[in-house]
Amino acid sequence: MSITTDAIVAESPGGPFTTRTIEHRDLRDDDIVIDIAFAGICHSDIHQVREEWGSAIFPMVPGHEIAGTVAAVGSAVTRHKVGDRVGVGCMVDSCGGCAYCKDGEEQFCDKGAVMTYNGRGYDGEPTYGGYAKQVVVSERFAVRIPDGIGLDEAAPLLCAGITTWTPLKRWGAGPGKQVAVVGLGGLGHMAVKFAHAMGAEVTVISRSEKKKDDAAALGADHYLATEDPTVLRQNRRRFDLIVNTVSAGLPMSSYLAMLKPLGAMVNVGIPADNYDFGAGSVVGGSKVLAGSNIGGIPATQEMLDFAAAHGLGATIETIPADQVDAAYDRVVAGDVRYRFVIDTSTINA
Ligand code: NAP
Ligand code: ZN
Repeated sequence: MSITTDAIVAESPGGPFTTRTIEHRDLRDDDIVIDIAFAGICHSDIHQVREEWGSAIFPMVPGHEIAGTVAAVGSAVTRHKVGDRVGVGCMVDSCGGCAYCKDGEEQFCDKGAVMTYNGRGYDGEPTYGGYAKQVVVSERFAVRIPDGIGLDEAAPLLCAGITTWTPLKRWGAGPGKQVAVVGLGGLGHMAVKFAHAMGAEVTVISRSEKKKDDAAALGADHYLATEDPTVLRQNRRRFDLIVNTVSAGLPMSSYLAMLKPLGAMVNVGIPADNYDFGAGSVVGGSKVLAGSNIGGIPATQEMLDFAAAHGLGATIETIPADQVDAAYDRVVAGDVRYRFVIDTSTINA
């Protein structure tokens, strides 16, 4: 018998959303059912609902920032029990046998990791994400949410948190390092919190002065507003690491010029349009222009444990189910402080 749950559904590209029931697969031996409490709204949800990354699978239930409690477990489940606080991020399955899966880098699975929504399981069935009351996933893709982080503040960590944690760790954010975070949205505000907690000196680069006080409260030491066209030029050779979270294109060469020699600029934003930069902007200072894609399951657990140990959660605005369309427009306008989280108890089909 399949599992029926209430969900927020985009029936076709661009929405609007409706509320109705959907069917999840029967519980497999290694599956758990999660009663979702909160689901974050990631800009990637908007890119996919609006088909900004190419054609998508509809009907779509977005949501890959999922926090809740375990409602039921399959007969072979060992990692989680009913009542446990758990989270699910961008992936719900992978082959488990390739070198990347064995290394805990499931996002690079040779067979292709199964995405939480807008994907297909290895059985060919479409996946449905977190804007719902329940989800069914393999136990391997649920992580433990430590006590001490509310489920609402924890939900955005499952994507915004891990996506910014990974490049900060890989590129050595810490004491003595000048780290810039470009774009103060869902990802950006978590990058600031983590980089500050790791001991780096943090600069926020935002479009206007509007978020200056917030940036300081989140842990930033400095703030640059690019509405002043001279600001990029004035800050050449300043940063060891730039984490770019912007969901739109940027004048890449000007940002690369703000790196010290040997510095790294890591893009986590995935705008629809290509970046444009000259070879000279990386060759001159032997700089690195990199990308970073979410993070594996062990790293996701490590990030959650770090967040709990440092008293960090996302800074959120909680909304009911009927405000998701309006919330999308506000995210695109850069008007979110700093992550919308859907209270899934308000989803009533
Ligand atoms: P978000 O909350 O909308 O934040 C993006 C920020 O970028 C905005 O707050 C804004 O900051 C800035 N921005 C937006 N439009 C801009 C423009 N036209 N020019 C300059 N700056 C602009 O989005 P998010 O959820 O953090 O996601 C950010 C990007 O990361 C998206 O493209 C998303 O798909 C991608 N993403 C990637 C991964 C990964 O694994 N790599 C994972 C999740 C998300 P200011 O107002 O401060 O300027
Ligand atoms: Zn996301």
